[in-house]
Amino acid sequence: MAHTEFDIIERYFRRPAAPGRMPAVGVGDDCALIDLSSSSRWAVTTDTLAEAVHFHPGTDPERLGHKVLAVSLSDLAAMGATPAYATLALTLPRVDERWLGAFSRGFFALAALFGVTLIGGDTTQGPRTLTATLMGELPAGKGLMRSGARPGDRIFVSGTLGDAAGALADLEGAGGAPPWPLRLRLERPEPRVALGQAILDLATSAIDLSDGLAQDLEHVLGASGVGATVRVDRVPLSEALRTHIPYPKRLALALSGGDDYELCFTAPADRREQVFKCGHRCGVPVTEIGFISDQAGLRLLDSAERPFPLSRSGYEHFSHET
Ligand code: ADP
Ligand code: MG
Repeated sequence: MAHTEFDIIERYFRRPAAPGRMPAVGVGDDCALIDLSSSSRWAVTTDTLAEAVHFHPGTDPERLGHKVLAVSLSDLAAMGATPAYATLALTLPRVDERWLGAFSRGFFALAALFGVTLIGGDTTQGPRTLTATLMGELPAGKGLMRSGARPGDRIFVSGTLGDAAGALADLEGAGGAPPWPLRLRLERPEPRVALGQAILDLATSAIDLSDGLAQDLEHVLGASGVGATVRVDRVPLSEALRTHIPYPKRLALALSGGDDYELCFTAPADRREQVFKCGHRCGVPVTEIGFISDQAGLRLLDSAERPFPLSRSGYEHFSHET
């Protein structure tokens, strides 16, 4: 039986390419890559936000417009691609002009920021579900993939992790309204597009963090056929998360909470300084959190190099069904 979204994709949707339609990268990375000419290739990605799954009913529609584009921009960032065109599929329970006005404002404000043109989509009635498909451009032969990590590479992450999950824990639990800095990270993620482009010739692999560092890094390890050691005390946490959520819960949120939309990438140890310079140039903090080895699996160690226990590695759709 297919147990998770990943089982479903593997069992039912990973199929051989049609004759003459072999993509440079197909199912299994943050974007598909398609070579259309000898000078450029296209990166394509689709993401859905479903009400009550990805956002609470009543979420600020302007922020939803921002987020539905931001999560796809984040996948383009993970490939190092330059955003170009989008399509937008909306399923809405009713016509609500205020909602539509605010949603489209949020969407187009972010689209303008990244030079994205909306070229089509679909509009239907039903439970609120928002889907954006994004196309971006890369130079021929280029593109960051999940499969390039090599033993000895260092592991880096951008920004801080666990903030969005901290906000969600409040909204879903007894915490009440989350502090603004955490809430903004949940509802208004900032895709790391400039950083992705900056590390294009530097990083050996990359993924964007949408389902939790531990789980998403495991995708990189699986695709690259390597293992990793991460020092959990080096995982960057925001001041807001540190003051709002006690240890070790904040660390668990940073390791297995979703919705970070930061980049996790690997680069050879001797390119470390260049990596930090890229972060500096893009105005995004970059932190080294561990290293790649040839011993399979992900090892999480605390500051005393003892194994750090983690009950859940990340978010998986369908994994909660019995
Ligand atoms: P991401 O979190 O980066 O958006 P996912 O973990 O959702 O990626 O998906 C993993 C891979 O499976 C991606 O390459 C995605 O394009 C692909 N994928 C997801 N659902 C389907 C589907 N129904 N059919 C084909 N490919 C899919
Ligand atoms: Mg992704």
